[in-house]
Amino acid sequence: MDARQAYQELESWSKQIAILGSIGGMLGWDQRVMMPPNATAHRAEQFATLSAIIHQRATDPRIEELLAIVEQSDLVKDPESVEVVNIRQWRREYDHATKLPLELVVEFRRTTALAEKAWEEARAKSDFSLFQPHLEKIVPLVREIAERYGYEREPYDALLDEYEQGMTAQEVDTLFAPLRAKTPELVAQIQSAPRQPNTPILHRHFPQAEQERFCRLIAEAIGFDWNSGRLDPTVHPFATRLGPGDVRITTRYYEDFLSPALFGTLHELGHALYEMGLPTEYYGTPMGESTSLGIHESQSRMWENFVGRSRAFWEHFYPIAQQYFSALHDVSLDEFVFAINAVQPSTIRVEADEVTYNLHILLRFELELALMRGELKVADLPSAWNERFKAYMGFEPPNDAQGVLQDVHWSGGMIGYFPTYTLGNLYAAQLFEQAERDLGDLQAMFRKGEFRPLLEWLRTHIHQQGKRYTAKQLVERVTGKPPSAEPLLNYFQRKFGTLYS
Ligand code: ZN
Repeated sequence: MDARQAYQELESWSKQIAILGSIGGMLGWDQRVMMPPNATAHRAEQFATLSAIIHQRATDPRIEELLAIVEQSDLVKDPESVEVVNIRQWRREYDHATKLPLELVVEFRRTTALAEKAWEEARAKSDFSLFQPHLEKIVPLVREIAERYGYEREPYDALLDEYEQGMTAQEVDTLFAPLRAKTPELVAQIQSAPRQPNTPILHRHFPQAEQERFCRLIAEAIGFDWNSGRLDPTVHPFATRLGPGDVRITTRYYEDFLSPALFGTLHELGHALYEMGLPTEYYGTPMGESTSLGIHESQSRMWENFVGRSRAFWEHFYPIAQQYFSALHDVSLDEFVFAINAVQPSTIRVEADEVTYNLHILLRFELELALMRGELKVADLPSAWNERFKAYMGFEPPNDAQGVLQDVHWSGGMIGYFPTYTLGNLYAAQLFEQAERDLGDLQAMFRKGEFRPLLEWLRTHIHQQGKRYTAKQLVERVTGKPPSAEPLLNYFQRKFGTLYS
């Protein structure tokens, strides 16, 4: 068989798996948005059957033969070619799918399924002891998975690499160091500032129907295409691409709090625009996929915070918002912009403001690293959490439900995931700075309701690149510098310096 043929066979294998995966995505969207509660058991069977089919195809021994052919051919000569990208990623995906023995995969699934149930109960009762024995099983399992995948320096690298390809614990630690050094002081300055925002104005009455209409208006103005997507209400907001021409986003509405729907929509919109901008001609192959969770998060954070929480954005949208919401009639633009940008240390990560959010991530990253390095016992996790939380935020969480038990990630065995949130913030700041350099005064554009130039810039430099580069390479190519915390810290200084005087 010649290499071209082998490549084409790999391509159709890849596309088939992507299509099967998108059927799973459809089932998942339905489960979270539409499905009646009594369908749960049958839906679980649908998922199990589908994932067995996908696993079987993903580990087909024939793929090893095909990869061996293309890897020794002329197809891999040009390091920038689409073929090289796809072959590299197929090799990685195939190795990952085949490196774990079936018993380990089954054991991991069973353990995490039980752990998630136990975690729900533990969180509801704020009782870590209910979750502890489960996490004590998960940590060694995750370590074994890391050993099987392989790493150069330490097990955590293998876990992180699953979510942020090519990034190591040491690199993340170095990247985060300036945030660790400077954020607590910035927060203290903000807290002692004489000028403080009037946040109760965001907790007046905002009817859901109006919120929905307003969120749609914003999504459309920025570039969401209703012929290629949907926006629906849900409990836990998410974005999912079911395939070319079908990207779904969700948000949640509280009639006594405007921010979640508004900024939740903008956040998921950012994810959706990335998915909508991926090169359709490569659908089903790595070249047609997003490059990393960190880059994905950079897109959501950019639209949510750098655009959606800017004064310029609201200079355009606030008069419209006032027409939609009678509760805002007596609230000035400045008052509103200040309120949506309030910085206040709090216990819950998902409710955190732009500045303190990264402290929540630093805390989790450091604890995960200590767990994986064997420096911290699961039993000591709650006290370690509270201690570090106090060092960063200045107070201790009142209980474990609002502390160590608040996130679902660890119960699902997702160790190494958290850093991608802050990486997303760092990348967003660095990319936004470059976009401003390339495009000129973005704020002036936002003031006029012009978002197209920024979106086009992102399409060209980020979305259209698919998986051609790792996050690190992509950021360096686009901005001329390796990822760094400096642009984010500068942005914080400028923005919050102005807001809080
Ligand atoms: Zn996100």
